[in-house]
Amino acid sequence: MSSSISERIATIRSSLPTSVRLIAVTKQVPAQIVRSAYAAGIRDFGESRIQEAAIKQAELQDLPDVTWHFIGHLQSNKAKKALEQFQWIHSVDNLKLAQRLNQLAQELGVSPQVCLQVKFLLDPNKAGWSVPELLADLSTLNRYKNLQIQGLMTIPPAGLNDPEILDVFARNRELAKEIQEQNWSNIKMQHLSMGMSGDYQLAVQAGATMVRLGTILFGDRLQ
Ligand SMILES: *Cc1c(COP(=O)(O)O)cnc(C)c1O
Repeated sequence: MSSSISERIATIRSSLPTSVRLIAVTKQVPAQIVRSAYAAGIRDFGESRIQEAAIKQAELQDLPDVTWHFIGHLQSNKAKKALEQFQWIHSVDNLKLAQRLNQLAQELGVSPQVCLQVKFLLDPNKAGWSVPELLADLSTLNRYKNLQIQGLMTIPPAGLNDPEILDVFARNRELAKEIQEQNWSNIKMQHLSMGMSGDYQLAVQAGATMVRLGTILFGDRLQ
């Protein structure tokens, strides 16, 4: 890409409604480039691997007011590290993981912001609750007082056309609304984490409050 990172960030930022939080996904992006994104105004960074993130976060310790978002599949043996390194976890994708995070959060004295990851279509490549499973688990999730449950995250399966992708995002919004109307004391539904480089415009159209963008800001990754 010929334009600079700061130009790309400015272009994308100005195309988003001001209420939408832009999370720059920095997996496979070196710390020096993350620094340029910070200089261009980014304060929210997303990573999907605990180990890779730890190295980068150590190199970037001097940057004040950065919020780190964990967005990848979280194995339960990495849950403690995730809580130590990240303020947000977008990818809480099953009840057992939620329970473990709640327990560890208590022990560590932290109260992470989390999104619950939902699957609207069968997708063997993605983790997440199905809608009926999530609805059945809400009363248990509501007891996990150390988690600040903020909303829903979803990733449409590969290979959908635009109307189908839009439909997935709209279903995520409707599910969040349905849950909100149940008035849980400890489950808030004010955030929809949805939209990546290829589909964020559809996500914003459907009401995303957080988009997670990598490639469109930093160029292609190796994989
Ligand atoms: C890699 C990744 C992104 C960013 O994807 P791009 O297509 O590069 O924008 C967003 N969300 C998750 C969960 C990811 O793993």
